[in-house]
Parts: sequence; C-alpha cells; structure tokens
Amino acid sequence: MSTTLVPPTTASARLESIFDDVLRRNPGETEFHQAAREVFDSLGRVIQKHPQYAEAAILERICEPERQIIFRVPWVDDAGQVQINRGFRVEFNSALGPYKGGLRFHPSVLLGTVKFLGFEQVFKNALTGMPIGGGKGGSDFDPKGKSDNEVMRFCQSFMTELYRHIGEYTDVPAGDIGVGGREIGYLFGQYKRITNRYESGVLTGKGVGWGGALVRTEATGYGATVFTEEMLRTRGEDFDGKRVLVSGSGNVALYAIEKVQQLGGIVVGCSDSSGTVYDEKGLDLGLLRQVKEVDRGRLSDYAEARGADSDYRAGARIWSIAESVRVDVALPCATQNELDEADARTLVRSGVLAVAEGANMPCTPEAVRVFAESSVLFGPGKAANAGGVATSALEMQQNASRDSWSFEHSEQRLHEIMVGIHERCAATADEYGEPGNYVLGANVAGFTRVADAMLALGVI
Ligand code: NDP
Repeated sequence: MSTTLVPPTTASARLESIFDDVLRRNPGETEFHQAAREVFDSLGRVIQKHPQYAEAAILERICEPERQIIFRVPWVDDAGQVQINRGFRVEFNSALGPYKGGLRFHPSVLLGTVKFLGFEQVFKNALTGMPIGGGKGGSDFDPKGKSDNEVMRFCQSFMTELYRHIGEYTDVPAGDIGVGGREIGYLFGQYKRITNRYESGVLTGKGVGWGGALVRTEATGYGATVFTEEMLRTRGEDFDGKRVLVSGSGNVALYAIEKVQQLGGIVVGCSDSSGTVYDEKGLDLGLLRQVKEVDRGRLSDYAEARGADSDYRAGARIWSIAESVRVDVALPCATQNELDEADARTLVRSGVLAVAEGANMPCTPEAVRVFAESSVLFGPGKAANAGGVATSALEMQQNASRDSWSFEHSEQRLHEIMVGIHERCAATADEYGEPGNYVLGANVAGFTRVADAMLALGVI
C-alpha cells in the first residue's frame, strides 16, 4: 500500500484510490468493503479540512487491522466425534485503548465478517468518548442445537488458543450473536484456569455474581431505544403510542422491546431466522423472555403459547408487516443486510418516522438511501447500538476498581452516554452542513477522534 506524504490533487481522488486498494487487498470480503465504503463516503470534506490526515496516511492505516489471528478449534461432540471449527480475532485499532469488541458464533462467520464488524467497532468505540480501541472475533461454530456440554467444550478449546492474545490492557472480548452469558462464563472459566489469574477485566458480559456489571445485558437494546427517542425528540415526537417493529428476538431485540414498552410504545412484531410474529395489541414480553432466555425456544413456541393473540408467519420477513399496518418506528436488531431497499420503501409507505440500527449494518446502502431521500430519521449502528460497548467499558471500570454500581446508577450512565453520542453526531452533521445526517455525523466524529490519536502516536 502506498504511504506517500505528498497530498493528492483532490480529496475524493485520494479516497477512491485508497478504497481501490482496500478492494484489491481484501478480495471477496464484501461486507468489509460495504462497511469501508460507507465510512469513505462521509470523509471527503474531512480530508479536505484536515490535510494532516492524508499526509500521515491515516486512512490507509485505519483500513489495515493491526493484527489478524486465525486458528483451529478442535472439540469433541456428545457422540464422541471430533469436530473442527475456525476461530478468529481481528485486532483492528488500539489508538484509543485496548481492542474491544464482541465474539460472534454463527455458521456464516468468515474473516470478512469479522473484519467488517471490527472496522465498524473502531469508530463506534471512538464515538462513545471512552478509552477503548476496536476489535472483533468469533467462529463459524453454531451453538444452536448443541448441548451445554458441547458448548462448554467448544468454548474451552476456543479460549485455549485465544487466551495468549487477550488481557485487560490488550484486548477485551465480549458477546455478540450466539455468545451470551453462558458462553462468556465458559470462556472466562478457561481463561482463569489457564492463566491462574482472576483477571475480571479480560472479558465483559460476565454474570453479575462474578464480575459482571448490572445493565450490560440490557445495554445495547436500551441504548438503541434511547438514541431513537433522542432522534424523535428533534421532531417534537416521542415513543408514546407509537407502533414499533423490532427484528430479531435475541439479546439486543429483547431489551429494545422492553425499553420501548417502558416508554409507552407498542411493539407489534419481532422475528427470528425461521419466521415473524405479529401481535396486533403488542408483544407479551414476559412470555417472550421465558421462551427465549429460559427455555431457549423459538418464536413459533412463543406464538403457540400466546394463542389467538399472536399471528406467527413461518418464513416471513418482519418488514412485510408494514405492507398492511402502520409502523412508526423500525428497529432492526438481528443481523447485517436484513433490511433492503424494497423493505425500506414498504416502511416509508407505511409512514415510518424513525429507523435505528440495533444490529450492525442491518440496512443495505440502498435502504439507507431511501430513508435519507424520504427524510426518515435514521440512526446508524455505530451510534445507535454503541450502548453495549459503552456499558462494557463501564464493566471494565468497575472491575479495575473492584466496585459494583447499582442498576439505577448504571442505567443513568448509559442514558447520559447515549444522549452524548446523539449530540456528538448531530453537532458534527451540523458542522459539516448536513443537519440531521446521523450517518455523516457518526462517521466523521468517530473517525476524527481515532485519527487525532493516531497522529499523536506516530507511525506505528
Ligand atoms: P443474539 O444471538 O442474541 O440474537 C440474534 C437474533 O438475530 C436472533 O433472533 C437470531 O435468530 C437473529 N438472526 C441472527 N442471524 C440471522 C440471520 N442470518 N437471519 C435472520 N435472523 C438472524 O445476538 P445479539 O442480539 O447479541 O446481536 C444482534 C445484532 O446486534 C448483531 O448484529 C450484533 O452484532 C449487534 N450488536 C450486539 C451487541 C450486544 O451487546 N449483544 C452490541 C452491538 C451490536 P435465530 O435465533 O433464528 O438465529
């Protein structure tokens, strides 16, 4: 990669040439390309305004992970058969602090998936204003349908390699898709056993009885809802009486649903990878949590238990609900590229006011364009779902000081952080002449914080 100190003729020509390099050097990693493109599209004026970033090749360096680790994860299933999975940890950028970002266990995980998530994480973490760098990891292991013992053996094998790369001052993983409290427990247990250290700050998302922080479980979903509330407030609106769709029914979705309900909204639908439920009068969250968190069941089980008040649509996409009923707010909280241009048009026709990404990159670029053209308030994942990692940083603080905060105090801190992120995005969008463009605001505010730290640290 070229690191010339001579500025290019124009900022946009330079950006395109760096982006071409990203495509060439990372073939086939389409999700990483998509995430990089989105950031590059916001940076033209930043590069013009701050030529020192180009001179120090900040963008070229930011696109290249500091370290990428790929390893074999062998384990034995309940039938005594040897199984092999692949483990990843991409340590993307540590200019602001130790690498921080979750682990995803899902059969779709490839190196490019982890790189897209790690790249996003760098800017998201910067946006929180906290001292955390960006990284991400995971495996193509599928915890679904595995026994607890199989999950434990897999996690122990995964950590037997990962432990040498992480530490409270080095790299601090957490959960993501397929990695919840159970998996973090097994991972931490193996780390403790291998290192003979009770190093609580090495992982976040721990159980509250053994080093975890209150509100970490709720944080991403709660935070995304608070961010949406702040966006709605700019138009004199709030959640009261709003009809809301939340995709997914995992960690982020469940707590987004809870917070929306607390704020007076009516969540009429959610989903999993097998189907969608539509409950006209609103979801029964108590039942949903029982099915998902306690019984580890499917949405079809929820619908069966709920009876006539629930309409389960096997194989249906959640956004199709908006074809026939009004939807005021949409919170995609499942996975990347789950809401496309046609879905966005359906939502706009239905009268949607606000969309916020609880998941990472759930809206395709074409969908984001439709929302922008239709003046729909749009909160990108980097900003809207940053409450999870911010609360992880609070967990690290509590671990470092051997302290544990109350639920109320922790939620108050989360609320302040999300309001702060909203303000930072809005003020940056204003400064760059595009009021209300949260995509631009998030990318530019996140990028400049990382870029300034990288400048200060020299060429490393
Ligand atoms: P969970 O594993 O708890 O839940 C994921 C949900 O999304 C499940 O309902 C799952 O359905 C559904 N889903 C996953 N993959 C697909 C797919 N390919 N197609 C359709 N549905 C799918 O994960 P989280 O709630 O933790 O994460 C959800 C999103 O939020 C991810 O994008 C993650 O990166 C992001 N995020 C999470 C944070 C956190 O703190 N957990 C922090 C910031 C972002 P099924 O059970 O059928 O697979």
